[in-house]
Amino acid sequence: MLVACLPLLYSVNLAFRRYLSAHHHVDKPFQVLASEVQRHVDCTACANCCRHSVVPVNKREIDNIAWHLGITPEAVDLLYTVPDPEASASRTLLNSGEGCVFLDGNLCMIYEARPKTCCNFPHVTVGTHSLGSRPSSLAHWAALCPIIYNALESYKHLTGYHPHPSLRATSKPPA
Ligand code: SF4
Ligand code: SF4
Repeated sequence: MLVACLPLLYSVNLAFRRYLSAHHHVDKPFQVLASEVQRHVDCTACANCCRHSVVPVNKREIDNIAWHLGITPEAVDLLYTVPDPEASASRTLLNSGEGCVFLDGNLCMIYEARPKTCCNFPHVTVGTHSLGSRPSSLAHWAALCPIIYNALESYKHLTGYHPHPSLRATSKPPA
């Protein structure tokens, strides 16, 4: 799913995830923090997730997009989707390498009909798993998503986490 990250930032946040897992921190305070961060981030100034994600689409989502665009589901399938590289029987939205086929500047051209994966991204305010058990992709995405980056930084502060000295070199947050 991820195509780029800052290696040091990834290492720091992967270590934090391991720390949370080892100390059995619950997810709820992180979700509250993440909701607050999300309220203050303007996604239309970013759109990194639309540039760097591979978005799976099921039949119902293709139908929704077709209805939204006023074309047939077969046309959506043909023009805007490709086989999922990890499951050839499934489909993903076409991504040119520059971003999702429906990305126009920083805006989604099918916003009201966007797939569930897009609606739920960055997945930090929902779910019942503890943060420590979340996939390592969360650490990858911290380099790209200001919501994840700032939510993790706030949670480090809340939990009193201090990274190992070898991980303390300066790392840049996402633009
Ligand atoms: S990467 Fe994060 S901040 Fe950027 S548009 Fe996506 S959800 Fe919003
Ligand atoms: S469908 Fe819209 S929200 Fe989803 S990745 Fe494409 S441009 Fe972004």
